[in-house]
Amino acid sequence: MFSYRHGFHAGNHADVLKHMVLIAVLKHLTAKPTALTVVDTHAGAGLYRLDSDFAGTSGEAVDGITKLRASPLAKDPAAAPLIADYLQLLAGFNPSGKNKIYPGSPFVAQSLLRKEARDKLWLFELHPTDSKSLVTHVEQLDAGRQVTIAREDGFEALRKLLPPPARRALVLIDPSYEMKDDYGRVTDCIEESLKRFPTGTYMVWYPVIPRPEAHSLPRRLKTLANQAGKPWLHATLNIGQSPERTKVVTPGEKPVRPGLTASGVFLVNPPHTLKPALQAALPQLVEALGRGRGQSQAVESGG
Ligand code: SAM
Repeated sequence: MFSYRHGFHAGNHADVLKHMVLIAVLKHLTAKPTALTVVDTHAGAGLYRLDSDFAGTSGEAVDGITKLRASPLAKDPAAAPLIADYLQLLAGFNPSGKNKIYPGSPFVAQSLLRKEARDKLWLFELHPTDSKSLVTHVEQLDAGRQVTIAREDGFEALRKLLPPPARRALVLIDPSYEMKDDYGRVTDCIEESLKRFPTGTYMVWYPVIPRPEAHSLPRRLKTLANQAGKPWLHATLNIGQSPERTKVVTPGEKPVRPGLTASGVFLVNPPHTLKPALQAALPQLVEALGRGRGQSQAVESGG
C-alpha cells in the first residue's frame, strides 16, 4: 500500500516550489501576534539526508535544491525575496555550507513557529517507518508541546482540529497521490474544511502529470473556493524535459525514467502578498532550474 517514500524525492523541484511557498505563507501568518495552528496532514519523515542511499537512488535533489544552491541566483542580491528566504532557511540546516540536510515540511514549519505566541504544529504520517523517523527527528528539536505527531490518516484527523482554538490556521495537504482516490479525498477534504473553518488558509500540493484526476484537481479546487466565496491562488512550476531524458535510446542503452517535470500548489485564502511575490520568484526559478523543452511557470488567482 505504501510504496512512496519521500526520501527518494526530497529537495526536488516540487519540494522547492512547495517549501518556498510554505515559508512565504508562514512568514505572513506569523506576523500577527495571535496563536497559529499549522496542520501537516501528510508529513513524511520530516528531515532527509541528501547524501543517503535513498536520496542517491533517484538523485532528484540534483535538479532541485542542489542546482538552485549552485546557481548564480544563490549569490545574487537581486534574487526574489521568496527565493532568498528559502535559501536562508536551508542554510540554517546546513551550517557547514554543504548541501547535506533537507528539511521537509514539518521542519520548515516548525522553524518558523513561535513558542511565545503558543503556535501549534500537528503532524500526521501513516507510513510505519517514516512516522517513526518523524518522531525521532522531532525529538531532537526539544519542541515540547508545540508539536504533536500521530500515525493517523491526515484527512480524517484534520476533522477533529477544525476550527482551531484561536481561529487561525494553515493546513498543508501534501499526499503522495500513489492511491488514485487521494485526488477525490483532497477535494472532499477542502470542501468539508471550508464549511468547518471558512477563514483557514489551505494549501494543496499536486503533481502535474498526464492523468485525468491530476488535470482536473486545480479546476475542482477553483470551483470549491469560488462556491465558498473565498480567494484562491494557483501556481505551477515546470522545469521541462532534460535533453538526457528526451534523447533516442540506442539498442542496449538503459532508458532514463521520465520523472516528474512539473507540479502545482493551490491555496484557498492565500496571503494577499503571495501573488506578486511569486510573480517575482517563479521566472527566476525557471531560469535557475529549467532544463529546456516545456519549461514554464504560471500564477493565477481569483475570488
Ligand atoms: N509533506 C512532506 C514534505 O513536504 O516534506 C512530504 C509528504 S509526502 C509527499 C506524502 C506522505 O504522506 C508520505 O510520507 C506518505 O507515507 C504519507 N501518507 C500517505 N497517505 C496518508 C494519509 N492518508 N495520512 C497521512 N499520511 C499519509
